[in-house]
Amino acid sequence: MVKLAVSIKAQLEALTDLKPAGEDFNWMFKVKCTSCREEHPNWVGIDATETRDISGSRGEANLVWRCQMCKREHTVSFDESFKRGSAVYTFEDSEEQRFAKLAVLECRGCELTEFDTNGVWTAKGAESGTVFDEVELSNESGNEWSDYDEKAGTSVSIMEVETKIARA
Ligand SMILES: [Zn+2]
Repeated sequence: MVKLAVSIKAQLEALTDLKPAGEDFNWMFKVKCTSCREEHPNWVGIDATETRDISGSRGEANLVWRCQMCKREHTVSFDESFKRGSAVYTFEDSEEQRFAKLAVLECRGCELTEFDTNGVWTAKGAESGTVFDEVELSNESGNEWSDYDEKAGTSVSIMEVETKIARA
């Protein structure tokens, strides 16, 4: 079993606490079999609120994937000890131009190689606390987003989003 941390880095303008919206966010990953090195042909969505049974009554996992090449069954689950939801990307992280962890996943028989931020996120005005709960990061928009914070009287934006997967 390997524990992998998913981190992001972004340029936040007058924003803080960027995170996926909702517990049921669909985290999109590229997955690779560690036995035969075959990569899953598609992006795979993993929702922390959904579990599937592992064959042979070996419990449950958020993702159960049978590799088409070697036919082995692999699983991925969110590490519950890593506080989901309270992990956010802050204005300070942005200022320091550093990556911050958003989630840790336990992978058995496979590994995650890429994370795609595609989906709905939330963020708060860095000074105003204004909640932006429909921050859409999509490949179509180049993973960039902008709006206007009425309360703070400033434009807000998210640019240069990068993702990283590394051993936790
Ligand atoms: Zn395989």
